[in-house]
This record gives sequence, C-alpha cells and structure tokens, in this order.
Amino acid sequence: MSSNFAPAEMKLPSGHFIGGDYVAAPDEIEVVSPSTGKVVGAIPCADAQMVDRAVTEARKALVRSNWGGILPRDRLKALHKWADLIEENAQILAYLEAIASSRPAADAKVGDVLITAEQIRFFAEFADKEGGNLVPVSDSHFGYIADEPYGVVGAITPWNFPMSMAGWKFGPALAAGNAVVIKPSEMTPYTTLYMAELSVKAGIPAGLVNVVLGDGPVTGTAITGHPGIDKVSFTGSTRAGSAIMENIARTGIKPMTLELGGKSPMVVFADADLDLAAECLDRGIMPNAGQFCVAGSRMIVAREIADELASKLAERFKRYRPADTLAEKPGFSPIISETQLSRIDGIVKASMREGAELLCGGNRFDRDGSYYQPTLIGSVDKDNTAVREEIFGPVATFQTFETEEEAMALAWHGTYGLCAGLFTRDLSRALRLTRKLEAGTVWVNRYGRSRDHILPTGGWKASGLGKDLGQEAYLANRRTKSVLIDL
Ligand code: NAD
Repeated sequence: MSSNFAPAEMKLPSGHFIGGDYVAAPDEIEVVSPSTGKVVGAIPCADAQMVDRAVTEARKALVRSNWGGILPRDRLKALHKWADLIEENAQILAYLEAIASSRPAADAKVGDVLITAEQIRFFAEFADKEGGNLVPVSDSHFGYIADEPYGVVGAITPWNFPMSMAGWKFGPALAAGNAVVIKPSEMTPYTTLYMAELSVKAGIPAGLVNVVLGDGPVTGTAITGHPGIDKVSFTGSTRAGSAIMENIARTGIKPMTLELGGKSPMVVFADADLDLAAECLDRGIMPNAGQFCVAGSRMIVAREIADELASKLAERFKRYRPADTLAEKPGFSPIISETQLSRIDGIVKASMREGAELLCGGNRFDRDGSYYQPTLIGSVDKDNTAVREEIFGPVATFQTFETEEEAMALAWHGTYGLCAGLFTRDLSRALRLTRKLEAGTVWVNRYGRSRDHILPTGGWKASGLGKDLGQEAYLANRRTKSVLIDL
C-alpha cells in the first residue's frame, strides 16, 4: 500500500485518457459528492469526434503492439503487473472511489480495489489456457475452431461500484487480446481514469486502455454507434440497455453484453435458520444503501415466521448510522444523487398510497448529504409499485405466503430475472425450487456473491444478455472462426 498518501494533496484526474495520456477538454459536467452535496470536480463530455479519436488510437495500438497475437503469457504478465500496481495504490484508489460515489473508502479498499486486482489476475489466467478446438470431421478434411479477439471493445459502466464494474470489463477484454474504449458513469469517473494510468505503468501498451468521459446520450451513444467498435459491453439500467440495443440496430449490428437491472426475491421458508436468514436478508439489501444490481429487494416469507422475521429485520435496519464515505469508520452509504433520492422517496410514498404499511424507515436521514433510511414495507400486493419497480435504494418489500406454489408465484417477476435467494433446511426443496426460479443466479442459505470469480453473473429476461465474470465473460470477448482444410 502507498504509505505516504495525503488525500488533501491529491489532484483529481481530469480529461479523457486516450492513447496513453490525458487529453484536456473543457469541463461540462460537475461531479458531486453524495455525502456532502458539494461539487468535487468537473469533467468534459466527449462528442462523437473525441470518441472517434479514442477508437482510432485503440485500433492503432492493437496493430502496433500486436496485443492479440503476442505470446499469450506476455499478456498475462502485463495484466498481473497491473493488478500488483492496483494493490500498491489501493489507498489512492479507495479515496478516488469514495470521493464521488456511495462507497465508503474503507469498504471500497477491500471490496472493490483488492477484489478488482484479484479478478484481473483471474481473467489473465485464461489468456494462455483457453482457446480453440480440434473438431471431428471426415478423414478427407482437417477441421478446427479458432478463436480470436474482437478488436476494440466499447464498454460503458454505471455509478454503483464504479471500480469493480470497470474491472469486470477491462479484465476479460484485455486478457482476450482486445483494446478497450470505456466510458464510466459521469457521476463517478475517477477510479476508471486512475486504473487507465496504472495500466500504462504496468506495461500494457499505451492506447489499449482508453477512457472517454461524458454522459449517456452524447458519449454513450457515440460509442455504441461507432463502426470501429467491434463489441459493446454495458452495465446499467434496463432503460439504457434498451436504448443501446436500439442504437446498435440502427447504426450497424454488433455483438453486445448487457448487464441490466433487477428486482430479486429472497424467499424464506418456515424451516430456515431464522437468525441466518435475518442476517442474509439484511446484507442482501442494505450494503451500498441498496444500490446494487443483485439487491434482494423483495422479501417473501412463510406466514408462520413472518412476524418474528419482520421484527428482527426492523431491529437491524434501525441500527444503521450514515457516515461520510471518506470517514475512517465506514457507515451507511449515501444515495448517489438528490434526483435518485427523490425517486426512491416517490416510490415509497406511492406504495403507501396504494395501501402498503411502513414497517420502518420511509424518510431521508436528517443530516447533510443524500441519505435515505433503511426502509421495510409490508402488506403489499403483487401490483404495488414498490414490488414492481427496481427502486435501487435501501428499500425492501415484505410479502407472505402459505404454500410453496404461492411462494414461487410471488418470486416470479414479469420483467426481471437477475438473482434469487432461497432459505430452507430442506435440501430437496432447495434443489427443486432452484430449477423453478427464473434467474441468472440462485443463492441458497446465503445471499450475495463470493470470491468464486469462476461463477458467471448476468440476468435472464430484461435483466440482461450474456455474462460478466467466469469463463463465459472471457469467451464473450473472443469470437470463433471455423476452419476446414481439404487434405
Ligand atoms: P444508467 O443506465 O443510467 O447508466 C449506466 C451507464 O450508461 C452510465 O455510464 C450512463 O452514462 C450510460 N448511459 C445512459 N444512457 C445511455 C445510452 N442511451 N447510451 C449509452 N450509454 C448510456 O444506470 P445507472 O443509474 O448508472 O446504474 C444503475 C443501474 O445499473 C441499475 O438499473 C442497476 O441494476 C444496473 N446495474 C446492473 C448490474 C448487473 O451486473 N446486472 C451491475 C450494476 C448495475
């Protein structure tokens, strides 16, 4: 770790990062700390010309360095060195993450910075171990399936877990031999820029990692519509995912990975370990104040244990204390912006008007910054706004069931299928219901990812297309070529 890091002297990175260096441009978008509501910096907004410059540099760098064609172990070595530098600069990166996002610095250091380094190494390992296949063809032929990088991957990431999300895009794309043009969220640009700086120091050829700053409608649209982008990898809302599909359909077909929204259920049966369930349900919604895609925002609980579990949860929720993301001791996270806080509050109030009951929370914290109370909503029917809409805040609904069929009917969501949690001591039931749940991930007697990066993550239905993490993410950054030779 950097031992002599002094936050007060840290100059926030600014400008786009293209071709291995910063490119200055007039600032157009303010960056605001959600902890204080104060402006901490400003960034430019790349137009189509600036995006074109980044794509051109990426293509030139690919040709110059032969990144996709060098000894795969040399790609792996450079990526390992990058991961080392990320670890060495963990304190700086945690600070850069915390200054504009909802992540407390102490949590970001362990949960984002160090994990990102680990995941980059995980993807690097595929570089010289994965690829191609000899296939059985008639003995008058020789046939094989080669696989090759796409070229330039265009990545777009959201404001929640900005560093981890950037790592999920960089790791597999670069390990697989591609260059990257990435646009972080305009609200949280700093860790992505600093990672790009470190990539050059690590010996990854300049121009393979490019960061263009800006918003979705201008910069994002320019990336997804650029003919020189060979594949799009997006993480964000289902609404933006649809806009991206539409733009790609209009401007020229290209493959895409879309990691989108969710409204995931956590189903608790009467035979579950109630203390474990209470802890997992709490941790399934409250980290980062509920601002994570896999949040278990719908609690579905067997009627006979509902009162006991609801009171255990309300008790836990009331203990959260908000804190500035730069405070030494991490506290409850702020909501990323005032706009998002008003949206959350609007859904909670609409849910009440539709007949729901407030079990706890339901208001902003009385302090500076954008903080919303952990909120539990009971007596909701399946059509209640809070049950249908992705809230992306510290708000969970609480529904009850009597039979297994009823539980599964409540768990089903017409739009989303990202994750689901099941809590039961009955192994047969767990295995049976795991098959029934329409979701890209199911957790049993736990809720949330582990450090098993080999497990892919990604949604069914409108929660997404394709996977991040796992071997699938690596393979999604290469395309196959069938070769047949007449002997
Ligand atoms: P968002 O969709 O508003 O923005 C995400 C990114 O897309 C930003 O960089 C934004 O500038 C850009 N963007 C917006 N409109 C665009 C367009 N038309 N074309 C191109 N780019 C565009 O999402 P957000 O509010 O930043 O993030 C929260 C959302 O992300 C939630 O819905 C959450 O569930 C989802 N998410 C999903 C996963 C997953 O793995 N499935 C992970 C994290 C977040």
